[in-house]
Amino acid sequence: MSRFWSPVVQSLTPYVAGEQPVIDGLVKLNTNENPYGPSPRALAAISEAVNDTLRLYPEPTGLKLREAIAASHDLDPGEVFVGNGSDEVLAHTFQALLKHELPLLFPDITYSFYPTYCGLYGIDFREVLLDEKMQVRIEDYRQPCGAIILPNPNAPTGSALPLAAIEALLQEHPDQVVVIDEAYVDFGGESAIPLVQKYPNLLVVQTFSKSRGLAGLRVGFAVGQRPLIDALERVKDSFNSYPLDRLTQAGAVAAWEDQDWFRKHCDLIVASRERLIAALRELGFEVLPSSANFVFAEHGERGAVELAAELRKRAILVRHFRGERTENFLRITIGTDAECNKLLDALKQILA
Ligand code: PMP
Repeated sequence: MSRFWSPVVQSLTPYVAGEQPVIDGLVKLNTNENPYGPSPRALAAISEAVNDTLRLYPEPTGLKLREAIAASHDLDPGEVFVGNGSDEVLAHTFQALLKHELPLLFPDITYSFYPTYCGLYGIDFREVLLDEKMQVRIEDYRQPCGAIILPNPNAPTGSALPLAAIEALLQEHPDQVVVIDEAYVDFGGESAIPLVQKYPNLLVVQTFSKSRGLAGLRVGFAVGQRPLIDALERVKDSFNSYPLDRLTQAGAVAAWEDQDWFRKHCDLIVASRERLIAALRELGFEVLPSSANFVFAEHGERGAVELAAELRKRAILVRHFRGERTENFLRITIGTDAECNKLLDALKQILA
């Protein structure tokens, strides 16, 4: 803390450095990365891009990637915005589109960065409680608001809303922007991208960090009609920033185009998730149904803080969130089957 800091900076909490330790042999199930990594075609494209052209600035709008994403969804490249991870895309979105006189609505519990962005950009917000089964109840969003942001599937609960519910929300709020954060949609959710042509108030945000195994490359994108995308471009331009460097653009295009790799590894993760859920239930956990690459689980008798600490002693990292509504839960990323088995063996030992 310093007397030179603005009140906004004073209110911010630094990211927990312990979430990204570098230790050999660690079973890292705490930040929802993909255990299989990226497509080999993405790695080859990045290697090929390591050449003399690195002395030149990158193409400033990520055009090739925007074209590739647009082509898969029958959209125009002008309806796609790319950035350094969906966190950056979301930051621009909060700044460009979500500050209004009436509050922004989002769930309680949800992605912890939303209130942080509201603090940074002076956005008034109202959190809408999940129902007793920890699901987003769409009727609760039938209230005056400036805009809405929902992760679908939600994080860290993992539950997904059907597309019909998203469509109802869009129809109920024709004059408000509705952002659907689809970081985890490829593991069993239904994407709202097909609704973009029909609803000028819809912005869909996705990432390459989860289903495409490229958290380290930092690629995210938003899809929406021109006026929304233009707003994001204006904010980006005012930072004078290039959205993606040359290596990232090359790797992301190749990753996007390798649909087979993508589908195969999403399917593997979904199959492992279902096995892990069944095994955790046998160990006495209550596990929420998940459409994501993680599960949210509570043990009736043993506290989550203790379980996370015991796992950490055994070099297995899982995520635990403070806060009244989340403190009994562990959020566990789906690893390879070998990693899930190590986790289950360790839990058996701890719970014995
Ligand atoms: N949205 C949600 C709901 C997330 O959980 C995450 C990752 N933690 C992100 C967005 C950001 O992901 P990235 O910046 O890696 O694209």
